[in-house]
Amino acid sequence: MKNYLKFLNYLMGNIDKYFAEQSPYIKCKMGCAKCCSNGDYPFSEMEVKLLKIGFSQLDNDTKNIILKNIRETIDAKKQHTGETRFTYACPFLINNVCSVYEFRGLICRTFGLIYSKEGEKMKIPFCAYEGLNYSNVLDKEKDMLMEEKMKALGIEVEPKAYNIHYDFLSSERVSKAFGFDYGKRGPLIDLLASDKTFM
Ligand code: SF4
Repeated sequence: MKNYLKFLNYLMGNIDKYFAEQSPYIKCKMGCAKCCSNGDYPFSEMEVKLLKIGFSQLDNDTKNIILKNIRETIDAKKQHTGETRFTYACPFLINNVCSVYEFRGLICRTFGLIYSKEGEKMKIPFCAYEGLNYSNVLDKEKDMLMEEKMKALGIEVEPKAYNIHYDFLSSERVSKAFGFDYGKRGPLIDLLASDKTFM
């Protein structure tokens, strides 16, 4: 855990810098929970370990709300049929606020920026299509960020893609460099379902 925290500290130094660089495009604010309301949230056992520290510090009422959310999400997942991916609101989200913010996962920390992944097109965050980050320069029909819009708004800094894809951040290359092990990985709800703290 100590080395994972060292990595998080290093990562957050970069992430904060990236959000600051891209500030003309960023609409993230307290109470906006689009990225926590519908997803499958890739997580690892190491990240869940940190969530558990946050969970242990909450009052009993809040813990009970989270446990109920987890149970309901597990039930909904069992009922889910068809080929579509099961998505859900994060069980830690209460009144549009993360109840374990300081202890959140990697995906929670990087969402909202454009990311790049080797061999793939840069990825614009989905909230751009919902009037949030980068929507001020997005042309939805062309599915592109437009330089003309940027110029019209007098924005000088270009939209930039960062190497912050979850697959990279949660890779062995990263964990080995910092000397920790992520453990098992999977959708958050599956990891919670197999952890006795939440069952
Ligand atoms: S842990 Fe917090 S930040 Fe991450 S998805 Fe859940 S509510 Fe959102």
